[in-house]
Amino acid sequence: MHILIIEDEHKLASAIAESLQALHYSVACAVNGEEGYYLASTQAFDLILLDLNLPGRDGIEILQTLRQAGAQPPVLILTARDGLDDRVKGLDSGADDYLIKPFAFPELHARIRALSRRGRIDENGKLHCADLELDRLSRRVTRGQQALELTGKEYELLEFLLLNQGHIVSRDMLANQIWGERARVVSMDNVIDVHMAKLRAKVDAPFVQTLIQTRRGLGFILADSPC
Ligand code: CA
Repeated sequence: MHILIIEDEHKLASAIAESLQALHYSVACAVNGEEGYYLASTQAFDLILLDLNLPGRDGIEILQTLRQAGAQPPVLILTARDGLDDRVKGLDSGADDYLIKPFAFPELHARIRALSRRGRIDENGKLHCADLELDRLSRRVTRGQQALELTGKEYELLEFLLLNQGHIVSRDMLANQIWGERARVVSMDNVIDVHMAKLRAKVDAPFVQTLIQTRRGLGFILADSPC
């Protein structure tokens, strides 16, 4: 699991990083809001630990911007502010859980385990949906006992759908996240549809249960039951 810590208290950030690394998590740290937002928006993380009160960009602002851009990694807020308003604001802005400082490391670790289960990323960095499994370390994809041979783009598409499972993924989000097409000067819709059709031919067509569904006018959704 790859975890981003956005925390401006250096001592706390390094203590968390060291404890997580000792448990074989891979960790990146940012000590201000700008750096945190930059890392969170340019790299794939399985979980973000986010302090609210940061120099530069505020934690809530980072969270809102990331969620608006379609980023779905679980976010655990770490904050000294124990006011109800901040907690509610954080959860309303798309955080998955919060922890009030000071906290004991075993409690943080328990929350991380709970959030990684919720995001269906196991401790080995594998993503699951029904009998579909994507191993982010070996980049191996299997459905049931069968290995699926995906191209690079098909793999990235499937990984993004798995990270956002249960949520609609629009063609704009895919153009932005997979093809890096931020301005959308030229429509990517045809390219996306062609890749998606090829992906579905491998992931769904040979199997009884369909996992990737189309939402007309909205995009796609990957889920283990019709929704
Ligand atoms: Ca702080």
